[in-house]
Amino acid sequence: IKEGGKFVIKGISGASLGLKQELAKGKLDFVYENVIESADPLYVMEADEIKSIEPLEKEGIVFFACIPLRIGPETKGVLMLASRIELRFDFDVAALFTLIGNNISLISEKVRLFQEAQRLAITDGLTGLYNVRYFYDMLNKEIARTKRYRTLFSLILFDIDNFKALNDTYGHQAGDEVLRSLASILKEASRETDVAARYGGEEFIIMLTNTPKHEALHLANRIREKIEEYNYHIEEDTVKITVSGGIATFPENAKDSKSLLYAADMAMYEAKAMGKKQVFCYRRTDEAGI
Ligand code: GH3
Ligand code: MG
Ligand code: MG
Repeated sequence: IKEGGKFVIKGISGASLGLKQELAKGKLDFVYENVIESADPLYVMEADEIKSIEPLEKEGIVFFACIPLRIGPETKGVLMLASRIELRFDFDVAALFTLIGNNISLISEKVRLFQEAQRLAITDGLTGLYNVRYFYDMLNKEIARTKRYRTLFSLILFDIDNFKALNDTYGHQAGDEVLRSLASILKEASRETDVAARYGGEEFIIMLTNTPKHEALHLANRIREKIEEYNYHIEEDTVKITVSGGIATFPENAKDSKSLLYAADMAMYEAKAMGKKQVFCYRRTDEAGI
């Protein structure tokens, strides 16, 4: 299958180690390329041609056929069938090969669609960040994990300041563009293990695993500054935006997901009340504890 501009062997059986190595080196790539380009449903190589291709000749192959595979909208792969013994190639064998090829194409397409559907189910359509449903899933898993291993984690909740005014001045479309740019800043700033999601309309949330409050605050302020520094180009104007943020840490501030989110929300509202464009930490400790 062609992936990222080169052919990757997805499965192989019956070949010697030597042939596998040659294939991995791309020695037959030109054959796959030809098969895909020719668009014939089945390509059976002449004996002379087999002899002229060293890896096949060395393997003692006397029969070699290729079937192009349609993956998605394009032909991107090749099914190869080779034999070291003479094969009587008649109509039945050709029909069988084509049938196998078609089935593999269909299965690949189903897998591709399934993976795409899975990706869409957890992604926010506008920003490409995780959606809130996936975030809740991950949050509950993280709480369970944190309890089991007696560690901790933090949440940062961001809300754009005066976003309604921006929408009112430049329109909803421009507002959407700003949300997209802001999402890229969040994606860039978060680590592989963080979960950055669109929490609501103009609210974003990041879950930071194994991160105590002071570290979360440091990161949140860095992100806040990046958002403030960024120039959002809308029509002829260069617009600046600011965000307010709230931080809550588990299990220090809450004993379950609901009260943890509430704590982050409260801290964020405190930041708003104190003049916006800043990040506050939730200070109260959960009395029940865990
Ligand atoms: P504050 O500083 O207190 O947060 O003020 P604000 O105007 O940002 O807050 P408010 O909650 O009053 O309004 C949020 C606005 O965000 C309302 C709506 O116009 C806008 N908004 C919410 N979701 C979207 C969206 O998906 N796209 C766009 N363009 N705007 C959105
Ligand atoms: Mg809001
Ligand atoms: Mg807002």
